[in-house]
Amino acid sequence: MTKREFFRLASMGTVFSFLGIRSALGSERKMSEMYKGSFGSCCKDLSDAMKQPPNSFFFVEKNNVLYLTVGYAQTEKGPGWFDQAVIYCPFCGKQLQSREEIAKKARG
Ligand SMILES: [Zn+2]
Repeated sequence: MTKREFFRLASMGTVFSFLGIRSALGSERKMSEMYKGSFGSCCKDLSDAMKQPPNSFFFVEKNNVLYLTVGYAQTEKGPGWFDQAVIYCPFCGKQLQSREEIAKKARG
């Protein structure tokens, strides 16, 4: 299993469990306005964070979902990385993706 595949499995679990909780609550919160530009075009800080470090912890998957690596665990097979899909830009606060969109893309 490549590092990226591990990432994807970890985050799919997170997304689906969140959706489960949300539908159980039965409330549909109105989404704030979504930023439509490509990832990293909302502000210079995100652009730099994605492009400048040689191994940025932000990455865009093949399914066009933006993820952020949030940590890792030591396993017998080496570090296991955890990533989380980014909903809001951590620098300027614009909404970049929705959980529905991510879940749809994760299913392929
Ligand atoms: Zn931004």
